[in-house]
Amino acid sequence: MSTTLASAEIRAFQRELIAWFARVKRDLPWRRTRDPYAIWISEAMLQQTRVETVIDYWRRFLARFPNAAALADAREEDVLGSWSGLGYYRRARNLHAAALAIRERHGGVFPRDPELVRELPGIGRYTAGAVLSIAFDAPEPLVDGNVARVFARLFELEAPLGSKELERELWSLAERLVPARGAGDWNQALMELGATLCAPKKPRCDACPLARRCRALAAGSVETLPRPKARRASVEVELEVLCVERDGAWLFVRRPSDGRMAGMLELPTIEVAAAGRERLHPIAHAAGVELRASEPLVQVRHTITHHRIRAQAFVGRTARRALPEPYEWHASSRLGELPLTGLTKKVLRALRS
Ligand code: SF4
Repeated sequence: MSTTLASAEIRAFQRELIAWFARVKRDLPWRRTRDPYAIWISEAMLQQTRVETVIDYWRRFLARFPNAAALADAREEDVLGSWSGLGYYRRARNLHAAALAIRERHGGVFPRDPELVRELPGIGRYTAGAVLSIAFDAPEPLVDGNVARVFARLFELEAPLGSKELERELWSLAERLVPARGAGDWNQALMELGATLCAPKKPRCDACPLARRCRALAAGSVETLPRPKARRASVEVELEVLCVERDGAWLFVRRPSDGRMAGMLELPTIEVAAAGRERLHPIAHAAGVELRASEPLVQVRHTITHHRIRAQAFVGRTARRALPEPYEWHASSRLGELPLTGLTKKVLRALRS
């Protein structure tokens, strides 16, 4: 059932939350600009990544690719290199593809029309709402994880996260609540409330500007909302990684151009369960590599979504300099610029420490 909201109530929500935001908002670098390109980059980075981590990446990315035209002119390899360490690399590939589309369809200028923005690769309803409302103050709604939690509690929404029913209700509320003026502040205030006070655990309702309007607080159901979605069981994965360094260069494998972490570079890796007793031998054989040690040199742990990975690294050597695709040599001095997978970075760090 759809939540009922009177106009006076909507205005009170807007007034109280925006006033609170003006008092407490964090000073973040992307909040000092109205450049839609810079805001778009921050939004792409902030999906799945913590604010503290994003700040440096955002500054470096903008220094290297200051506008959509510069990003469109870059090689995807360089864009992935600047993204390396942030994870979820599809975001970087989508940014690059969207920059190309902006150059081609809109003369390099970020469009203002919501329809045109949502047609860009990788830009969904949330990102379009965020960029248009923050950069142009357009009355566009948005819902992200923080907003979902705030709304679920404010309006006591019982449908579980991820359900169609909850999605519908959240977007309907966002559309009805977004003000005609000050939409950027409203949207940011909602996200700020979710990020700072209305936290998943132990929300600070005593400091919340909307406490007296919060239905979950009145009903004592704050801790149980939003209802969680069914969790996927975690999967243990055991990998073996081959580390071959020769004449100041490391041997990498280029991942396929589609699928997970497409186009990234990783140390030759094999899943133990898939390899059976052969273990590293298929890789070593294809690359003409001899294993130097039968015992692993280092072991690292890594998590990707619900996969809990244990990787053991072995050292190898090869007499062959020219190797077929997908093998590539890259100088140790350039490792910082390469689009390396997170696991490969961890292994290389562990080897050097
Ligand atoms: S009163 Fe508590 S639960 Fe309700 S919106 Fe505020 S912080 Fe969240």
